[in-house]
Amino acid sequence: MRYDRNMKLSQHFTLWEFLRSETALKRGIDNEDITEVQLQNMQALCENVLEPLRQHFGEPVYISSGYRCYYLNNCVNGAKKSQHQYGQAADIYCKQGSKRLKEWYLWMVDNLPFDQLIWEVRDGGRRKWIHVSYKNEKANRQQVFTCKR
Ligand SMILES: [Zn+2]
Repeated sequence: MRYDRNMKLSQHFTLWEFLRSETALKRGIDNEDITEVQLQNMQALCENVLEPLRQHFGEPVYISSGYRCYYLNNCVNGAKKSQHQYGQAADIYCKQGSKRLKEWYLWMVDNLPFDQLIWEVRDGGRRKWIHVSYKNEKANRQQVFTCKR
């Protein structure tokens, strides 16, 4: 199904923030054909995780990677069963730097429901982001870890 890109998933998040992808654009991959279940998963992630984070800090939460269709996930070397493929995960960052991002992360650990919360570090610390996932229908595991590559 193709939904209106400008559809709001929660007060501060639109569907387009989950669908847009530099890689998809460059490679000509259609990342906008989603199922109703995937849409509901993205809505649940927004309502239960991203929106409460946005409202607590009162700061924009930027999504660098949200939903990934199968081809896009392969292109970016995502995990085979990546929750991005189900609309259950988002990679987020802030524009105030990594110290602030760490504050978000630590607050999320203690205050939000999630399946996995990962502190992602790349290029010897030059790139950092938070991967967070939420399961709409199944029990969330509240797993927290760091991934450095
Ligand atoms: Zn991720």
